[in-house]
Amino acid sequence: MLPPSYYVCVPCGTVVTAAGGDVPRCPRGPHPLLREVDAGRLRFPEMGPAQPFLRFRGLLHACHLAREAGATDAECVEEIERAVEFLPPLRSLRWSRLEILEEVFGIESGSLRCKSETDESATIRRRQGWCIGRAFLSRWLALAIEVADEPPDACNGFVFDAGASLGWELAADRLRDGVDLHRVFVGVGDGLVASGLVHGLREAYRLGALPRLPRLHLVEPAGGPLSATFDQVSLRILSQVHADLASQRIWEAAQSFPRVRQQIADSLQAGLQRAADDRVRTAVEQGLRAQVIERPADPDAASLVREPADWFGLVRGMLESGGFSISVTDDQLSLARELLDSIDSAPVSPLGCAALAGIIRLRTAGDLETDENVAIVAC
Ligand SMILES: [Zn+2]
Repeated sequence: MLPPSYYVCVPCGTVVTAAGGDVPRCPRGPHPLLREVDAGRLRFPEMGPAQPFLRFRGLLHACHLAREAGATDAECVEEIERAVEFLPPLRSLRWSRLEILEEVFGIESGSLRCKSETDESATIRRRQGWCIGRAFLSRWLALAIEVADEPPDACNGFVFDAGASLGWELAADRLRDGVDLHRVFVGVGDGLVASGLVHGLREAYRLGALPRLPRLHLVEPAGGPLSATFDQVSLRILSQVHADLASQRIWEAAQSFPRVRQQIADSLQAGLQRAADDRVRTAVEQGLRAQVIERPADPDAASLVREPADWFGLVRGMLESGGFSISVTDDQLSLARELLDSIDSAPVSPLGCAALAGIIRLRTAGDLETDENVAIVAC
């Protein structure tokens, strides 16, 4: 039987776990993976220690394998504490409410929140996650992992365990504060923060910690590669299940009007949620897989702007949540920077500015309701 968490190779469908003798990666090539969980066998921790990896140890792939090899929960705690003992501490930051911006945007009964993951904490999070995975493998599966500094990449399953903890934290904040988020805006950047967030939120939802997925919006400057990919995948899917929405005319309208994108996103998400509607689910899976197989290995080798390695996870996350990618202009980015600059407690960073620019784009188009609870994730 598979452990409660495992990884599925996107292009070839191979199911991978670390039990095979290596970090979780596809044996057939440098293929991107998606993390999956068996929701019936896992429980989302409602309470727990402040250290994210201790609190969420029950969701870590390395812990699942160790438990199957006979480790007790107390031994897992010890192992994690030992693995991170000499690393800088990981502090998870809580939401802050940006009330000044709520006024600026005319958000009346809703709210605008910010979750900060600093560059430094994102790096520490990945490093801790990797060290924990390696420690468990060497002790409980007697595997010697030679690589000292595994680079973060979408072909190594442990990268997901580390990154997903950010999304689990957001879900835990929701359990504590009781505020349901309607939308989360994240700048794309190198995609690692966004990827962890998307996977973690998806799993928290599947484990019942969230009543619904907030709409996910990945935001990047106009002409960015992720928006183009999101559009290509959406068109592939629509041509299978909603040929009427796949017309060139509607697609051109979608470029200019977020409302059209929202309608398309809603119709796909409704299909994904209907248990009996396998047609949409199959079209989404096929659309993502076809995009992996048919596109050139590195379409933007010469470009400075690289697409995130986990683009398929980000695209799937947006489709499942009824969200969509947002392109923003330089003016919207400058305005976002000015606004964040004017607030003492707000982090001013490229990812935070992009996320806020996404809100500006939707709000100025009249496509963000004033009673919505929205959040930006800054880094
Ligand atoms: Zn593969």
